[in-house]
Amino acid sequence: MDEIIENIHEAKRITAFTGAGMSVESGIAPFRGKNGLWNEFDPQAFASASAFAEKPERCWKLFKIQIEESFDADPHDGHYSLVELEEHGLNSVITQNIDGLHQKAGNDSVLELHGSLSRLICPSCQNRFKTKSFLEDIYEGYIPRCECGKILKPDVVLFEESLPQDILQQAWKEAENCDLMFSLGTSAVVQPAASIPTMAKRSEAKIVEINLEKTPLTEEVSDHFLKGKVGEKLPELINLL
Ligand code: NAD
Ligand code: ZN
Repeated sequence: MDEIIENIHEAKRITAFTGAGMSVESGIAPFRGKNGLWNEFDPQAFASASAFAEKPERCWKLFKIQIEESFDADPHDGHYSLVELEEHGLNSVITQNIDGLHQKAGNDSVLELHGSLSRLICPSCQNRFKTKSFLEDIYEGYIPRCECGKILKPDVVLFEESLPQDILQQAWKEAENCDLMFSLGTSAVVQPAASIPTMAKRSEAKIVEINLEKTPLTEEVSDHFLKGKVGEKLPELINLL
């Protein structure tokens, strides 16, 4: 811990890179592993662009659960620690999560690599809407539609879709420019997002990883590995600053 504290004090520009494990303690199911959504929903059938084009109603079974979970969830101490870390040089949060919890906690700059459940988009006329304004209907089981009649899609990156290039570019720039990166609750296997800590490392940033278990980053990329829950380990660390 002492060495990490020293690294944080020395760092001028800190970035946090977060994955589904960041939200688990807020009650949001990850995709893989225990209680993972993919144990119940086949990703190809429920969360791919082709599935949405053919059977959007079926995809909405999954979207409804994800939207309700996210709107019902509250940030935990780990999220609030990242807000506190802004006073010690945290410049931005790069997240693979689509639940909006970093913004709810109050972080200033959040780069959402996989989009957000807080918006819906029409696949035909590309109009965007606030999910909030359809929330009651969604809870009641209605599937939201655009004025043009098409079923709306959460503004998130589905399988077979590419990441928003402008956000990805910004994330890469952050990775190159930071001198310390936290990698929090991510299995670091989904590309190209998983390459972000590797990129930071190549630009000589220190990498601090917190996860319940080792990942491909742990031995190869991370300078420090804290094994445990991000909602416990991160506040412990920040309290020592
Ligand atoms: P992942 O499911 O592949 O991995 C989650 C990682 O978090 C695992 O390595 C696990 O060991 C770790 N973990 C679980 N609970 C933890 C805790 N309390 N503290 C610390 N670590 C913990 O998720 P990923 O790496 O983000 O990548 C896969 C995809 O999952 C992304 O595409 C993302 O969009 C999507 N996803 C997002 C959400 C969300 O928005 N909350 C939920 C499910 C999936
Ligand atoms: Zn439309």
